[in-house]
Amino acid sequence: MSNLDRMSSFGHFTVGFALASSLALSLVAGKNDGRLDLWWCDSDGGGSTLIVTPAGESILIDSGNPGGRDSARILKVLTQTAGLNHLDHLVVTHLHIDHFGGAAEIAAQVPVKNLWDNGLTDADPDGNRNSTWPLTSKAYRTMPVGQRHRVEPGLSLPLTAGKTPLSMRCVITRQKPAEGVFSDRKATGTAPVLKAPDTSDNANSSAWVLSFGNFRFFDGGDLTWNAETQLIWPQIRVPEVDLYQVTHHGLDVSNHPRLLTALNPTVTVMNNGSTKGTAGEVLTTLRGLPRLEAQYQLHRNLRPDGVTNNIPNDFIANIEAGTAHPIHCAVLPDGSAYSITLPAAPITRTYTTRRH
Ligand SMILES: [Zn+2]
Repeated sequence: MSNLDRMSSFGHFTVGFALASSLALSLVAGKNDGRLDLWWCDSDGGGSTLIVTPAGESILIDSGNPGGRDSARILKVLTQTAGLNHLDHLVVTHLHIDHFGGAAEIAAQVPVKNLWDNGLTDADPDGNRNSTWPLTSKAYRTMPVGQRHRVEPGLSLPLTAGKTPLSMRCVITRQKPAEGVFSDRKATGTAPVLKAPDTSDNANSSAWVLSFGNFRFFDGGDLTWNAETQLIWPQIRVPEVDLYQVTHHGLDVSNHPRLLTALNPTVTVMNNGSTKGTAGEVLTTLRGLPRLEAQYQLHRNLRPDGVTNNIPNDFIANIEAGTAHPIHCAVLPDGSAYSITLPAAPITRTYTTRRH
């Protein structure tokens, strides 16, 4: 199927072909184009989501693994694609190496003005004794940043908004949900099913809702199953969203179906690796969502269970092992529509923002 066929096959959306083309024209975040841009910088099963606001402010949610590979990929998107020479906000959802590991390498290359995390601890955040935590976290604990901040539930990042309202708010962190940030509503039905308790720092992940006009994006880091239920029981404390970053790389210790039903996304992006994430239970949950129009993955699942646990190749950024193409989302200046591009192909599809 040609790109043109792919594009025209999306004619049923209210956003027409011309708009889809103009959104696809440039992968470079123009300084004054008014768009909101998001990139999933591939860290092969790590977290590394870069957001650039219309005012040119940058937010990186998680920083991939240490070792130079992931930080180089993130810096390439930040400096070459987005054309920025610093990072305004680095948000580290929790203290696991695939989320904080690249931070010190990034801070060594570009100024990082603000770091937002759950606070540093001398002890292993997973509670392991005799762990390598003091060694593995040393670069992160000592890296130069403008200001370090402790995330609290309900916190809003200080962002510059233009004509279109813009916010990024923390809906839960350290297993404490934010109350009254969005219009809380009482949950109905029976209490959500729980799984075995998770004593790792995944459960402490901060989760965030980015709002731009009517557009909503949810990034939950690696928040795990039982902690997720705090967002939906007994009060539902999250809004419906347009775009959902599949939590925890698509693992089934996360992605509670009741939370996903409450979030009710139109599009999902999974920051999986070629052998990490893409759990069958999660894919089943995603496929059952009533408003879902598209699922994306950073990688084709190359494990044996990839025969069933995958999505069509033209929704996947990296089909073979060894490539590291990002996924790009551009939101129109008024937030009314957004396009998702797989730059390697390139394939762009456009979706209409819902009125939540
Ligand atoms: Zn992770």
